[in-house]
Amino acid sequence: MSLLRFNVIDEAIRRKANNVTPPAERPAEYFGTYVFNNEKMLKYLPKKCYEALCDTMKNGSPLDRETADCVAAGMKQWASEMGATHYTHWFQPLTGGTAEKHDAFIEPDGKGGVIEEFSGKLLIQQEPDASSFPSGGIRNTFEARGYTAWDPTSPAFIVDSTLCIPTIFISYTGEALDYKAPLLKSIEAVDKAAVKVCRYFDRNVNKVYSYLGWEQEYFLVDEGLWAARPDLMLTGRTLMGHESAKNQQLEDHYFGAIPTRVAAFMKDLEYECLALGIPVKTRHNEVAPNQFELAPVYEEANLANDHNVLLMSTIRKVARRHCFRVLLHEKPFKGINGSGKHNNWSLGTDTGVNLLSPGKTDDEKLQFITFLVNVMKAVHRYNGLLKTSISSATNAHRLGANEAPPAIISIFLGSQISAVLAKIESSENGDSIEMDGKQAMKLSIGHIPELFIDNTDRNRTSPFAFTGNRFEFRAVGSSANCANPMTVLNAAVAEQLNRFSADVDTLIMQGVAAREAIFRTVRQYLKECKAIMFDGNGYSDEWKTEAEKRGLDCEISVPKMIDRLNDPQTVELFGKLGILSDTELHARAEVEWETYTKKIQIEARVLGDMALNHVIPVASRYQEMLLGKIEKAAKLFPEAEGERITKHDRTMVLDISNHIDRIYDLVEKMVDERKKANNLESEKEKAIAYHDNVASLFDEIRYHIDKLELSVDNEIWPLPKYRELLFIR
Ligand code: ADP
Ligand code: MG
Repeated sequence: MSLLRFNVIDEAIRRKANNVTPPAERPAEYFGTYVFNNEKMLKYLPKKCYEALCDTMKNGSPLDRETADCVAAGMKQWASEMGATHYTHWFQPLTGGTAEKHDAFIEPDGKGGVIEEFSGKLLIQQEPDASSFPSGGIRNTFEARGYTAWDPTSPAFIVDSTLCIPTIFISYTGEALDYKAPLLKSIEAVDKAAVKVCRYFDRNVNKVYSYLGWEQEYFLVDEGLWAARPDLMLTGRTLMGHESAKNQQLEDHYFGAIPTRVAAFMKDLEYECLALGIPVKTRHNEVAPNQFELAPVYEEANLANDHNVLLMSTIRKVARRHCFRVLLHEKPFKGINGSGKHNNWSLGTDTGVNLLSPGKTDDEKLQFITFLVNVMKAVHRYNGLLKTSISSATNAHRLGANEAPPAIISIFLGSQISAVLAKIESSENGDSIEMDGKQAMKLSIGHIPELFIDNTDRNRTSPFAFTGNRFEFRAVGSSANCANPMTVLNAAVAEQLNRFSADVDTLIMQGVAAREAIFRTVRQYLKECKAIMFDGNGYSDEWKTEAEKRGLDCEISVPKMIDRLNDPQTVELFGKLGILSDTELHARAEVEWETYTKKIQIEARVLGDMALNHVIPVASRYQEMLLGKIEKAAKLFPEAEGERITKHDRTMVLDISNHIDRIYDLVEKMVDERKKANNLESEKEKAIAYHDNVASLFDEIRYHIDKLELSVDNEIWPLPKYRELLFIR
């Protein structure tokens, strides 16, 4: 018999997986091999066409038909030379994954043959049947058409033999049905609003970029074990499983030596990523056993997000090559850390200035403080919406648990920045009025740079932390599309910066000097948004009470959080900036409620099936073995002696009965609650019922199953246990 009860991928395959030959060239040589990047554009496009495309990419100017045809021809030539036979519009529907429909580069030639063709028309726009993608009711069944439209700011790339063209996905009537379209609009909104503010300091600024550097956490599980866990296969997480005796308590995994088979997987993955132009840089073990992290160098937010979405499909593929399955779920295992996707976010100008970097001159310092405080103000005003942007059925397990950001959005700044802000806030009007603007700055914040020498001041419990030259939004879930939180953040900051320019301009019109007006406005904002600052322990119960007092959003039910999308404040924010209409927002809420319900529904079914088909039969079988022993003992030994021999078995038999009874009852109740919920008309009410009455039973059912796991003979327990899932690598 094998060492294990399960078909762990055998040693020979594992050795083979370890032996992936690294590519001969250096990363610089294969970086971007599969990307139609600037280098390829120069090679495959005529100069005029190249320049027109660059102009579109940089300034968003529309592409004429002739240029589109020319770009398509160049792209196609490159793709064919690379062996591509098909092309696809690659988009990000609200399902959370990516969608693609491959078409061959062939068209009938009208003479019974085919010619290879790829026109500008096909590059720019396609009409996939949208009826199978979630739309939240926007697209009624008789108008199932949707459009995908090329996003020239994100370069096309080749996967296998298909040319992938990044696109947005919209309905026939123009509403966004994806994550990319609103993200692009939010990027534009924050660009415009930030440029206006930058020009108080530097007239040469013409563009502000939002940057995103994501850190992707994930688990790896041996494929053989994964296949023996229906819950992992169907829901991405374990719905049952007793804690392993050893898990992460020795803290020996984080930054530890990377296991050989995992290292082979990582090298292979990194090669694929680099060839696809994803600038991956960092890899390490994470806190939990079999948990790892991968992070690239930050990029412009739209590109970075495409790269993250591409990474999520690539990592699944490469893991399988190494006989692993990758778990991107936020909480695959109970009792150990879950996985997040920290979103490092900043704004930077086309003149090369990071607006969240403290700077050296007085002007740079004031500009830094201006942007810092405006971000704080935006996060304060929209803390509930930001939480909605990261909330999902899967991330709910992580938020609020004792290892991840709490379900309350607050900002951690570190003691040094907090001290500087306190000083600004308490400075008298006179401080800055007496002197000219510059001197006022010296007085209040002149010593910022030295404060940044030591940047170890970190708070792991904060969902939104300032880390020296960027904010790190840590509450984002590992399986999420970052576009959602990035859209909300960009929008909130854009709106706030617009308010700021208006407030400053009003003061200037009243005759206040510009620097002075900026300083006064910043100070005023600080007073107003102080409640968002929290440097303490975000996991503590005191914080929950305190946050409530401060008026921060403390909702913990995901379906109720989703309702924030319909708040008048949200509708106004997105409407004013032209990012999403109220119809689109409403549709998104519907989709999110529907998705929530479906996820919980699937989990409930899997849990019920496993309880009834796996756990109870095996527990009963073990109980029967014990009963046989008791019966035999009673036959072979005099009464008292027989009882002594089977004392513990008798207790065990009763215990098992109790657990089995409870499981039966609870599963029945769960099925009933599901039926009741399914009868509700409104998606919102349904999701709330699934949250309140169905998901709330999971833990109790699991409790009894996990108790049985501890009692039942290991040899017949049908599911791989935590110690196997987490320590075989
Ligand atoms: P840590 O785990 O210490 O937070 P990592 O090095 O794992 O740091 O990841 C930090 C991420 O933040 C990387 O993707 C990095 O490129 C990104 N980053 C660094 N500076 C900025 C910035 N100014 N704006 C956005 N992202 C940034
Ligand atoms: Mg980080």
